[in-house]
Amino acid sequence: MAAKILDGKKMSEALRLQISERVAALKQQGITPGLAVILVGNDPASEIYVRNKEKGCAETGIFSTTIHMSGETSQQELEDQIQALNADERFHGILVQLPLPAHLDERKALEKILPEKDVDGFHPVNAGQLLNGHPGVVACTPKGALYMIHQTGIDLTGKEAVVVGRSNIVGKPMAMLLLQENCTVTLCHSRTINLAEHTRRADILVAAVGKAGLIRGDMIKPGAVVIDVGINRIDGKVRGDVAFDEAEQVASWITPVPGGVGRMTITMLLQNTLEAAERSVHAE
Ligand code: NAD
Repeated sequence: MAAKILDGKKMSEALRLQISERVAALKQQGITPGLAVILVGNDPASEIYVRNKEKGCAETGIFSTTIHMSGETSQQELEDQIQALNADERFHGILVQLPLPAHLDERKALEKILPEKDVDGFHPVNAGQLLNGHPGVVACTPKGALYMIHQTGIDLTGKEAVVVGRSNIVGKPMAMLLLQENCTVTLCHSRTINLAEHTRRADILVAAVGKAGLIRGDMIKPGAVVIDVGINRIDGKVRGDVAFDEAEQVASWITPVPGGVGRMTITMLLQNTLEAAERSVHAE
């Protein structure tokens, strides 16, 4: 039987309605959630992502500003801009669009964002809180992926979860979130020996690699929940890390690409911005 689809578009629409309602409630208290996005240089893919973030903000009533900085911006100029936004009460969330031009130090820049305004969840304080089992701001992509897993209604306790990919922005936080859900977690990566041996054990399989079709049908346990984070552009088409046609014959639930996890990432950014604004009320 073909797997059921975890539809990121539908889930996002429903979530954005809820976010809009919470934004409206905050506005009644005199607070408009605000997001500042810093975009350095003219990377076309980044410009599209930033436009989609602006659209999401407009749709839910979140105030947003994009600060375009030239591709020649110095580290100091970038950090000064971040500090200015840290001090600007209109913004509850600050996001530096990645990747930055090669001459800039990404890690140093991200560390300058106040942890409570770090709506991407990349600051070491937020990453550390997740590791300690007391999540603060959680990175948008794994947060969205976990939300989708929850929509299956499956009790995660004791389940075998296998995450393929160990990046700081997806793989590692995803593994931590699944551990928090009491899964038994395996984290695979480019040096893993016999990947299929691991993936075949997975009740929950998350692929976050960046290699189109890496996960084949025969690498999936029958009945598994398959979450495909990969975004690969092949001949003008967007494809995931999972060979969808094969996987949907084996899995119980699966996310499509496009229309799966990618859809949820920006929605989670909106949610993180809203939650940062809500926390600012309680902090007063
Ligand atoms: P990354 O390049 O930082 O990390 C890739 C990981 O895959 C590495 O940890 C590497 O060890 C592992 N890997 C590489 N080859 C492998 C192999 N043959 N077997 C097992 N592991 C292997 O990438 P990332 O930033 O984590 O992104 C991963 C994918 O997810 C990309 O396609 C990216 O475009 C996509 N992505 C999607 C969203 C979204 O919103 N859906 C967000 C972020 C990233």
